[in-house]
Amino acid sequence: MKVASTETGFDVETVRKDFPILSRKVNGYPLVYFDNAATSQTPQQVIDTIVDYYSRYNANIHRGVHSLSQEATDAYEQARLKIRKHFNAAKSHEIIFTAGTTHAINLVASGFSALIKEGEEVIVSALEHHSNIVPWQMLCEKTGAVLKVIPMNDNGTLNMNEFQNLLSEKTKLVFVNHVSNALGTVNPVKEIIEKAHGVGAAVLLDGAQAAPHIKADVQELDVDFYTVSAHKMCGPTGVGVLYGKEEWLKKLPPYQGGGEMISTVTFEKTTYADLPHKFEAGTPNICGGIAFGAALDYMNGIGFEKIAAYEHELLDYATVKLLEIEGLRIYGTSEEKTAVISFNIGDLHPYDIGTIIDKLGVAVRTGHHCAQPVMDYYKIPGTVRASFAFYNTKEEIDIFIEAVKRAKNMLS
Ligand SMILES: *Cc1c(COP(=O)(O)O)cnc(C)c1O
Repeated sequence: MKVASTETGFDVETVRKDFPILSRKVNGYPLVYFDNAATSQTPQQVIDTIVDYYSRYNANIHRGVHSLSQEATDAYEQARLKIRKHFNAAKSHEIIFTAGTTHAINLVASGFSALIKEGEEVIVSALEHHSNIVPWQMLCEKTGAVLKVIPMNDNGTLNMNEFQNLLSEKTKLVFVNHVSNALGTVNPVKEIIEKAHGVGAAVLLDGAQAAPHIKADVQELDVDFYTVSAHKMCGPTGVGVLYGKEEWLKKLPPYQGGGEMISTVTFEKTTYADLPHKFEAGTPNICGGIAFGAALDYMNGIGFEKIAAYEHELLDYATVKLLEIEGLRIYGTSEEKTAVISFNIGDLHPYDIGTIIDKLGVAVRTGHHCAQPVMDYYKIPGTVRASFAFYNTKEEIDIFIEAVKRAKNMLS
């Protein structure tokens, strides 16, 4: 594809060469991949890291005295340091490797059942992914704690006045996403954290959707927990991170028992390992962790500011073009949003639109996006969601717009 220059001067043509998958065809058409909010594509640099690991130094970590084990351990711990630096955690043992965001949230929710009492309150937002709702409902069922919900506004932002009203000395924990995966809304997390801390509540930010676009500084935010998934930021699936402030990670009981998380084991009593190993039972996704480090190197090599500026260029371009289609409504129109566009056309079913444009090589997400409460708010079964990454182009957006128009004509 011939790619025009961009307003922000982003060299997308060079970037695209790093992603082998972008040159494949789907159903006879060049792939236009606009499902980046579900999972991102993988650059050659990360693929090479994975191949290198299995070709040269695949071994279990922390256990062997042999050279391969030490090389694997070093590379894994090196990745932890890269992640610490990227999110500016104060200490590397505040970085816990997990299988992803869902695992990280479950780890915290499960641990809080030891710290929360009947009648105490936890607060979620109406904008959440199911993985930041269900674990807390399970916590409330187990403990008798009460789940309160910050309502949303029509434009897909949170009602911050209502949030203020929900806070009290009963509030123990607030958990919201930094960026909504269904609508792309960037939430006012600094204000949420300040207000929650004002009543002595801890805050967990689900950063799965923010981390590919915004470089969060956990110390500057003063957030208590932050979760990310590598596969949404150019890394592999099955690996992610829980950041937790040391004081909180010390208070939480271990999540799973097993190897690696113990100090001593007898049948009478087991003592637990220090952080971070206390939360890392069993053989982890070693290769995945190392590849996550490589993905951060790759993205930082391009620069998060450049990525965000270019993605906004794509977002603005696509928004204007989409709104020219009669009967099209965009859900989520916050001033602060990432490059996600959720929409419907009249009463056409999102699934039908998605199926037709897939035949033309365009990949988007359709459905409720694991955020049914958001869909319930708008009284719709789902949306079509196009989500852009820094390796997408305006030419691809043109192809997508034409495909959507064709789908509309066929269906109406
Ligand atoms: C993707 C996503 C999750 C779930 O992440 P997994 O990698 O599936 O564990 C949670 N929250 C948000 C906002 C997401 O976008």
